[in-house]
Amino acid sequence: MPDQPAKPTTHDSAPRMETIVSLCKRRGFIFQSSEIYGGAASTWDYGPLGVELKRNVKNAWWRSMVLDRDDIVGLDAAILMAPQVWVASGHVAAFTDPLVECKSCHARHRADHLKNNTCPNCGGKDLTEARNFNLMFKTNMGPMEDSSSVVYLRPETAQGIFVNFENVMTTTRRKLPFGIGQIGKAFRNEITPGNFTFRTREFEQMEMEFFCKPGTDEQWHKYWLEERFNWYLKLGMRKDKLRLRHHEKDELAHYAKGCADVEYLFPMGWSELEGIANRADFDLTQHAKHSGKKLEYFDEETKERVVPYVIEPSGGADRGTLAFLIDSYREEMAPTGEGKEETRIVLRIHPALAPVKVAILPLSKNEKLTPLAKDVLKAVRGSIDGLVQYDDAQSIGRRYRRQDEIGTPACVTVDFESLEDNAVTIRDRDTMTQMRVKILDLVSTLKEKLAIK
Ligand code: ATP
Repeated sequence: MPDQPAKPTTHDSAPRMETIVSLCKRRGFIFQSSEIYGGAASTWDYGPLGVELKRNVKNAWWRSMVLDRDDIVGLDAAILMAPQVWVASGHVAAFTDPLVECKSCHARHRADHLKNNTCPNCGGKDLTEARNFNLMFKTNMGPMEDSSSVVYLRPETAQGIFVNFENVMTTTRRKLPFGIGQIGKAFRNEITPGNFTFRTREFEQMEMEFFCKPGTDEQWHKYWLEERFNWYLKLGMRKDKLRLRHHEKDELAHYAKGCADVEYLFPMGWSELEGIANRADFDLTQHAKHSGKKLEYFDEETKERVVPYVIEPSGGADRGTLAFLIDSYREEMAPTGEGKEETRIVLRIHPALAPVKVAILPLSKNEKLTPLAKDVLKAVRGSIDGLVQYDDAQSIGRRYRRQDEIGTPACVTVDFESLEDNAVTIRDRDTMTQMRVKILDLVSTLKEKLAIK
């Protein structure tokens, strides 16, 4: 058993957004879009580690909302839809934010985000009257650019679910209550995007519409509030950084009977991570009216037709990813192994979300060690779901730090003793403790370590 180093001392660091942005750029999580052209405002590209992290967030959502349940099925609807959808849903008429312009510096702002009606850009107080600005991106379908060819990039994934309600219900022979889950891109021409990936004009949503009998809706709303709050906790988010906030009556969207947000304490303050709304029968009724198709459920017991009520948990994959990054970021004092201490940056992220699951680190490049380490790599890659890296450059201490900074839960060191005892060392990211395991037991030990508990 190797000597156990002293444990790192951690403190509750609340990183600044700039720190996260710079880590993301330095380590290849998130880059500014079109950077070589000076960047496209408030649009971001996920790099090699970011794509893994965000995919893991989406997979964890899909697992808990679709794969692990009998009462929810999945869907992947198109981004472009019939334009009537957005008339029926109320988006053409009402999906607006109040836009004001500062008469001094001409900066544009969302009126409802201003403090004391003051321009945050120049401090000016002379602002134009607010006008309603529709957030939907418009484009044209086909070669004609006239009003008859106008289509919208969907501003939410939910409507793709509502228009498929009948298709899904009949093909899967569902009984109420049941849900339809979907993950996909949505677009909003936000007046003031910002705070890194928190508010962008192109983003991904993770939405589920849960159809239930009228009268059971409030109980299901409560259920989903709890489920969704607990999902973040289960994936390691700290409870004191999360809260549920119920909307005031005057804050409710036009379709909502009730709504509460899961909020996270971001560096700029408490902000929405996910909204969980009771949409009542608004959407199905509207689509039935505008399409002329009946969107109802026949209740075998009562022999009655009902329009189901809908509970909608709607989260952002990008916002969620950002929150998981911020929440797991720590700067802590860690022993160097030579009786000294140094600051280490570590992402204490849940193993299910970690972009790299395992790093295989041979102690040195060597004609005997390298083939054994490559064999270990092959065995681990073949059995662990997710990215497994191989790194044999620089000192082992440096390599551990590089993996800590990107949140790799386990580093496997192959050393000269391994050639004799057929065992390797697993070094734990959080405690920095080391454990010797037989190569034969390595995969099962790693699987246990990486599981969602
Ligand atoms: P906000 O009040 O912040 O504009 P919203 O209440 O309009 O948000 P919803 O329509 O409830 O947001 O969208 C559901 C989820 O989609 C949000 O909780 C958020 O995670 C995500 N989302 C919405 N708009 C954006 C955006 N512009 N950029 C990134 N994610 C977004």
